[in-house]
Amino acid sequence: MIDKFHPVSKESKTTENVKEKVQGRVVHGSGLLQKLNTIHDVASKFDNTKSREEILKILRSEAKWLLNYDVCFIALLNKTRTHYAFYSLSPIADASELDHKHFLIDEGISGWVVKNQASFIGDIESAPKFNHAIEGRLQELGIRSILVVQLKTGNEVIGTLTFGSLKLHLYTEEDAAIAQLIGLYVATSLRDASIFEDTRKRITQIELINNISQQMSSTLQLDELLKTAASTVQKTFNYFDVTVFLKTEDSSLVELAAHAGSFVDFLPHNYRQSVDKGLIGWVFRNGEKILCNDVLQDERYLAYEYHNTRSELAVPIMIEKEVVGVLNIEDTKLHAFDETDVVVLETLSDQLGSAIKNAKLYDEIRKANMKLTELDKMKSEFLGIVSHDFRSPLSSIILAGRALLKNEAVEQVPRIKEYLQIIVDQANRLNQLAEDTLSITKIESGQLNYFFKIVNIERLVQDAVSMVRYSARHKVEYKIDPNVAFIKGDQTKLRQVIQNLVSNAVKYSPRGGQVTITVDDLSPEKLLLSVSDQGIGIPKDQIGKLFHKFSRVETGLSRDIKGAGLGLWICKEIVEAHGGKIWAESDEGNGTLMKFTLNKAQDGIS
Ligand code: ATP
Ligand code: MG
Repeated sequence: MIDKFHPVSKESKTTENVKEKVQGRVVHGSGLLQKLNTIHDVASKFDNTKSREEILKILRSEAKWLLNYDVCFIALLNKTRTHYAFYSLSPIADASELDHKHFLIDEGISGWVVKNQASFIGDIESAPKFNHAIEGRLQELGIRSILVVQLKTGNEVIGTLTFGSLKLHLYTEEDAAIAQLIGLYVATSLRDASIFEDTRKRITQIELINNISQQMSSTLQLDELLKTAASTVQKTFNYFDVTVFLKTEDSSLVELAAHAGSFVDFLPHNYRQSVDKGLIGWVFRNGEKILCNDVLQDERYLAYEYHNTRSELAVPIMIEKEVVGVLNIEDTKLHAFDETDVVVLETLSDQLGSAIKNAKLYDEIRKANMKLTELDKMKSEFLGIVSHDFRSPLSSIILAGRALLKNEAVEQVPRIKEYLQIIVDQANRLNQLAEDTLSITKIESGQLNYFFKIVNIERLVQDAVSMVRYSARHKVEYKIDPNVAFIKGDQTKLRQVIQNLVSNAVKYSPRGGQVTITVDDLSPEKLLLSVSDQGIGIPKDQIGKLFHKFSRVETGLSRDIKGAGLGLWICKEIVEAHGGKIWAESDEGNGTLMKFTLNKAQDGIS
């Protein structure tokens, strides 16, 4: 044990140093009252201290005025009270090997003092507990008498205060009383500082967690999300190493999904390990955290040749009740983590859980969407080809049919004429459907090109009406405000709009009646085109869906009239592409009024 810390040559040199300094020392103790005054002075210096470091600094400079010693240090218990660590206050003897070292509560005189809630004054040799690394080291420095008192606030012992001297039988009961009094002030200040630090740490943590959460919720790409989370957690809390493991499709394996910190170069990207192994595997299987401040003592720990991890904290990442990953931090120091880190990691793993869930959902939707877009594209292409190829044979049928209808021989056989008329009408209908389908596929793929020019509105209406077939029961007329002679638009497409509206007006007025197309001057920029009929009308509650694709009124009389539900959708697309608006006004049984606006030609022609 001794060899481990101090080669003999170094030891004798250090002891020499101690002796030299002892000889040059001012000797105190000119009376109890003076000492009490000094304690009071030192205590008042603690009043405004806010951190452990400040308190230790004051003790380092002031303790020498209170008691004779060659070494002086305090020991502080960790939060779980299983270990304590030393903090050297000694200005003279070099016990730096002990500084910041952790020992089990069962080891050394300090452990004994804490456990028995007693003080110890006496020769180091007669110590009730002797640890080679602690008391053994002090002996090497030549320390012979020792005084160890508790650091106590109320009923809670938070550590010990130790004074050691090269002289034999140095310390008295009076020294013990003085040391206890100092201990009381130190313990109270340390407790206050620790409460202050805890509160400050917690506030900072809440702020930091909040920042990280915001960062996490702002990205939906899983890979990027985990990388950001790992590196932000590592940097923000200054953790030695942070890893995020996720489960894989193969449920027996977990995969390294993100890594930040000092071990990054040690683990290969996409490193996988079995869920049966290691602390990570255990957390995955059990869905519970592991806080391990000495991994070598934990048989679940899977040692890596290249890792010198000593502390590890792993918490599960859950989505609902399923463990989907592990958030893990490691450190090469013993006792690197405490309950505060658990709170940090657990809060973050909660956030990560929902962020991962969102990212996965987003990913699924994105993939489904891509598939749908692809399918939709294929459908449009198919429809485009089919409807295009339909039109040439249909045009031939229609042309041939019309020619035959004019044939004298046919004229004389009414039955043949009637059948021929049916063939021509139905071929026309099919042709219209093919046109509409083609328009749809073009609109959807953004390939419907518009050619805008100045269009005479009266001619446009006339053309459109002439293309609609209607029976003698119907009367179709139009009224055009002379103030709106010209508009700017795509003639063919606008004709299609008026044609669709007029065919609907005729089609949905099976008993005939008046169909009127009116063009009104709406404003200096706009005109209003209305198509009215006296037909079956549209129930009020269905008007809202008329302009949707494949939408038909499925009630009453309209159910028996054939249609694909495309005409109005196409009208809406075309009107809107012209910067206009289209809508319907109607009531069941009372006819229908279809209206749309268009921009007038603004270059002086209107
Ligand atoms: P197509 O695609 O052949 O035009 P369609 O006429 O059924 O078929 P749209 O023109 O889009 O399709 O019309 C949609 C629905 O609106 C029709 O099915 C019909 O129920 C209703 N509708 C349209 N115009 C009128 C109208 N003037 N009177 C009554 N109902 C109408
Ligand atoms: Mg229609």
